[in-house]
Amino acid sequence: MQSKPLVGISSCLLGENVRYNGEVKLNPAVKYELGERVSFIPVCPETESGMPVPREPMDLFEVNGVVRMITLESQKDKTEVVSDWIESKLKELSVLKLCGFVFKSRSPSCAMNSANIHFDSRIDPNGEGLFAKAFMERFPLLPVEEEGRLQNAVERDRFLKKVFLIHQSYCR
Ligand code: SF4
Repeated sequence: MQSKPLVGISSCLLGENVRYNGEVKLNPAVKYELGERVSFIPVCPETESGMPVPREPMDLFEVNGVVRMITLESQKDKTEVVSDWIESKLKELSVLKLCGFVFKSRSPSCAMNSANIHFDSRIDPNGEGLFAKAFMERFPLLPVEEEGRLQNAVERDRFLKKVFLIHQSYCR
């Protein structure tokens, strides 16, 4: 058993150079405050499924009742390549005894509830990214949080309590 709980995290929140525009998005409260208590497993669905840095931005679009990930300028559909990667990544994560996950907000891959989904006549700003959605469906009992709420110390403690409960359950 690990001494610290294992928590998955969107890689860019640790300052890794994986963002579509090459910008660093380190989240110090998550990396350093939360990182004192847990061991992070970084995951970047877009670069790990083969996309470069920098890359064309993408968004989610509803097409014939299905949410698809499509690049904004060249209109390339990346749904299949990301979905194939997600399937194998979730298998890999399922043997790790993960205790939770911290997701990057507003990402078509990683957002829990803040991705834009484009419909014919409107945009839903509260969508789930493809990886976050699949992760939450696969691991419904694991605590998950978007980075924004974890800026708040009370929310960080609340999240950590849930993470440690899962960690203890692995020791029984
Ligand atoms: S939000 Fe997710 S897919 Fe986008 S750079 Fe961060 S880890 Fe990668």
